[in-house]
Amino acid sequence: MKLCSACLLGIKCRYDGGDKANEKVLELAKREILVPVCPEQLGGLSTPREQTEPKGDRVVTKSGVDVTDIFEKGAEQVLKIAKAKGIKSAILKQKSPSCGCGKIYNGTFSGIIIEGDGITTKLLKENGVEVLTEEDL
Ligand code: SF4
Repeated sequence: MKLCSACLLGIKCRYDGGDKANEKVLELAKREILVPVCPEQLGGLSTPREQTEPKGDRVVTKSGVDVTDIFEKGAEQVLKIAKAKGIKSAILKQKSPSCGCGKIYNGTFSGIIIEGDGITTKLLKENGVEVLTEEDL
C-alpha cells in the first residue's frame, strides 16, 4: 500500500480545478493499493485556488499571501493517514509545493525549477516514508 497524490489518479484537486492523471500511476493502481491524498485540500484550501510556490521555507500565493500554515496542516494530515495505515512509501506529484520531491519552483512564478522538496514530501521523509514521483515509474 502506498500514498499517492490524488491528482495523479485523475482526481480534480489541482489549484486550477484540473487533474494530472498519469498513465503509469493508473496502471500501478490496478496492481497495488494507492491511497489518494491531496495535502492542499486536507489543509483546508478550496479547489480551484490561487497558484502557490515555495519561497525559502515558506509557501506563498501568486498575489503574495503566506499560506505556509495551511500547507503544514495538510502535510500533518497526510502523515496521520500514513501512520494510521502503516504506509511506508508514497508516489507524489513532482514539482508541486506540497508534493514535489527533489524539484520545486523557486517562488518567482516564472517556471524556474530548483532543488528541493515540497512541504508534505519533507515531512513524510522526516518520518521514514520513502517518496517517489511519477517520473520514477
Ligand atoms: S497538493 Fe499534491 S495531490 Fe494536491 S493537487 Fe497538488 S500535487 Fe496534486
